Amino acid sequence: MNFDYTPDQRRWRDAAREFAEAEIFPVAARLDKEQKFPYEIVAKMCDLGFMGLTVPEEYGGTECDFVAYNLALEEISRADTSVGITMEAHVSLGCAPLLAYGTKEQKEHYLGEVIRGGEKLWAFGLTEENAGTDAGGTETTADLQNGEWLVNGEKKWITNSGTDITGGVTVIAKTGERENGKPELTAIIIEQDTPGFTRGPGYEKTGWRASDQRQLYFRDVRVPEKNTLGARGKGFRQFLSTLDAGRVAVGALSVGLAQACLDEALKRAKERRQFGRSISEFQAIQFKLADMAMEVELARNMVLKAAWLKDRGRPFGREASMAKVFASETAKRAADQAVQVWGGEGFMETSNVARYWRQVKINEIGEGTSEINRQIIARSLLSDEPATAAKQKMLAQ
Ligand SMILES: Cc1cc2nc3c(=O)[nH]c(=O)nc-3n(C[C@H](O)[C@H](O)[C@H](O)COP(=O)(O)OP(=O)(O)OC[C@H]3O[C@@H](n4cnc5c(N)ncnc54)[C@H](O)[C@@H]3O)c2cc1C
Repeated sequence: MNFDYTPDQRRWRDAAREFAEAEIFPVAARLDKEQKFPYEIVAKMCDLGFMGLTVPEEYGGTECDFVAYNLALEEISRADTSVGITMEAHVSLGCAPLLAYGTKEQKEHYLGEVIRGGEKLWAFGLTEENAGTDAGGTETTADLQNGEWLVNGEKKWITNSGTDITGGVTVIAKTGERENGKPELTAIIIEQDTPGFTRGPGYEKTGWRASDQRQLYFRDVRVPEKNTLGARGKGFRQFLSTLDAGRVAVGALSVGLAQACLDEALKRAKERRQFGRSISEFQAIQFKLADMAMEVELARNMVLKAAWLKDRGRPFGREASMAKVFASETAKRAADQAVQVWGGEGFMETSNVARYWRQVKINEIGEGTSEINRQIIARSLLSDEPATAAKQKMLAQ
């Protein structure tokens, strides 16, 4: 056992912490209020290499291991989860499938020439009106005609899909039907300026208000067959595996937010006086702080254990689901207790904790709800199979 970070992991964590404290935390409340995408911050994060983490240098990235990426993401999210999800969706959902399943030419073109370490963002479009948890409900279709995919349909809530610096999206589309009557799903790369591909205006959200989510419309969109990502019909497996890693990262994002709640609770506990004493002297407040600190520590360890397994090429699906559920629920409890420590001031939008309380809920929903992750964990326990195999069976039913 070795709980020490490698020099590279420490370097990325420290660099992210320094940047987040100096450049993100001071403007996080304003970003949330104005609901404006943080172009300047994302450009600086690209220059510093955060938007290319885990992507090999030969494809324009700042190659690092998965642990280092999650450490950096935690620090960015501690300052602001809008910026955190922008980074996470780009690296884990945008770049990772291109890297894992792309041909050499696709990687050179999309990662190396279009994305270039985050100068352009890439999105991942799975969710639709009738395909949320149940991706088998995908209604977007892609028909192969004379060497081109003809894509028609709509996607919903797709992160990073409508910014001025979005390069494109990888969409999951129905390309046929399997022998067992289930849909054949295929991942298809669609660049932003492709004719017939348009985007909606964005949403009025409870949290992640400075991040970008759009409705996507595909009306007779034509892309060459070579835009297929991986083999035809492998889209289902690809997004399961993409979401496994994404769940670890949403866990890291949640740990960052939980830590931010603890930071604010500690600050207020020391500053606020009642009955002639600091409220930090009351055992009721001390126990809240102690519980928050214990859970944050445990959630962080779970995220890092799952990331460490992935770095070693070992199965990590069960641990990813565990880390995501526990970290997101830790963050929810931490936000609740942080507001409690702040009292009435915590109910005011002038406090950071009010914003954290609004922002925290989505972590239990995005990239697999807590319910579905609990099912994945339980199935893997009951069948004694690695979580990914159990999950494929479950979702195929
Ligand atoms: C801000 C935001 C950003 C997002 N970004 C992206 C993105 O970039 N790309 C993308 O593809 N998607 C994205 N999504 C979609 C997100 O992944 C989905 O919201 C999520 O997968 C859940 O789907 P749903 O919201 O349709 O919930 P539903 O599937 O309608 O679920 C509703 C409830 O039913 C429960 N439920 C459903 N099925 C079962 C079951 N079999 N057993 C038990 N309980 C069940 C769920 O757990 C949940 O509690 C985003 C969503 C939001 C809000």
